[in-house]
Amino acid sequence: MMSDTEFTALRTEIAEWVAGPGEEWSQRIESSGAVPQELVDELRGHGWMSLAAPEELGGRGVGFERFLELMEYFSRLHASIRMLVHVNNGIWRALVDYVDDQQREQILIPTVKGDKRIAFTLTEADSGTGADIRTTLRREGDVYYMNGEKHLITFGMTCDYWLLTARLEGTTGHDGTVALLVPNTGLPGVELIDDSQTMGIAGTDHAIMHFHDVPVPVSARVGQEGQGLAVALGGFLLPSRISVAMSCVGLAERAQQLAVEYAQQRVTFGKPLAKRQAIQFLLARNHASILAARSLVLEAGRGYQAGRPDAGALSSAAKMTAVDMLAEVTDNALQVFGGRGYFKRETIERVYRDARAQRFEEGTNEIQSLIVARSVLDGTARYADDVPVA
Ligand SMILES: Cc1cc2nc3c(=O)[nH]c(=O)nc-3n(C[C@H](O)[C@H](O)[C@H](O)COP(=O)(O)OP(=O)(O)OC[C@H]3O[C@@H](n4cnc5c(N)ncnc54)[C@H](O)[C@@H]3O)c2cc1C
Repeated sequence: MMSDTEFTALRTEIAEWVAGPGEEWSQRIESSGAVPQELVDELRGHGWMSLAAPEELGGRGVGFERFLELMEYFSRLHASIRMLVHVNNGIWRALVDYVDDQQREQILIPTVKGDKRIAFTLTEADSGTGADIRTTLRREGDVYYMNGEKHLITFGMTCDYWLLTARLEGTTGHDGTVALLVPNTGLPGVELIDDSQTMGIAGTDHAIMHFHDVPVPVSARVGQEGQGLAVALGGFLLPSRISVAMSCVGLAERAQQLAVEYAQQRVTFGKPLAKRQAIQFLLARNHASILAARSLVLEAGRGYQAGRPDAGALSSAAKMTAVDMLAEVTDNALQVFGGRGYFKRETIERVYRDARAQRFEEGTNEIQSLIVARSVLDGTARYADDVPVA
């Protein structure tokens, strides 16, 4: 386990990289529209792709709450850098309890090291995300034949494996769902369409996939038949949602930093913007909103780590709050810049667009609201560990 001193040194190292080389990489990614392999190698070389995983998997064993503090820094950067660190430090959670020895050695451990990349492959164009998925598997002996489609899949083009959730033909709901680690190696029947032209997160690839009787060996299955959604959503989604919520906090901090700097330097009618009460109020409101969301996100992190019974609702509440805060803060920050903020030469323009994606990642606010409402109404929601809602 990492000592307090080691963690403080690690956080300082990351903070310095974020303020210096990380920001230079951010500008380079945005202007070129590509994430160079050199950057991925640099992140891996620093050991930042392996922060959160336990040491027995080759990770650095940074506890979840502490990992959130590191995500706060990475998220101030270009969204593609944040995405690399977030996904690689989280995907192992979906697999760790389900992989067999071979999958662990050949796929999971190299992924934790950052040598291989796995794309989380769940969302479909014609079904709801979760128990509604329609991609099917027909089993013939030791082979599944897969039919269906997926879309919006981050790293879907460039990854080594898709952690893909499908269902056995003829099943519905959670029953018959199956998780597979499918190699992205040109399997027959796979049509892969590059769908990387997005509003923000420039340089990160996304894929649409069509499957026509794709043969996948049964040995690619993770866990048992019927456990597909447990693998995809069980141990992974809850902490991942909190990590996205912390990403909202980090990006909002960056927006606020840009707005403060600009307000101090831009002079109108003989005074810097920072001397105008209207602008001060925007900055004050931003600050208070960031602090409030940050506290809740850290509480959700602690709740998850301590196994609080309402950890699911708490993580959804944190994500809802952080996402709304980010929308408000980035909008206020852009307002401080005036018309100039709408132009690509200003970093706030990129931050504003990158922020919008976080309203979708790991579930929308509408879906988070359903989770929170259920917990409030069934009596499991808490204000604190020992303070029930009703
Ligand atoms: C940049 C980006 C990267 C992504 N990366 C991945 C990835 O790597 N892997 C992956 O599997 N997915 C990925 N996604 C997909 C993402 O998880 C989904 O977009 C998100 O969960 C919303 O699902 P949907 O797009 O199918 O929206 P829909 O389900 O079509 O919903 C549309 C709207 O209706 C609302 N809605 C839907 N159902 C309900 C309901 N029951 N009650 C009330 N409101 C409802 C939603 O909140 C939303 O506002 C990514 C998305 C984005 C934008």
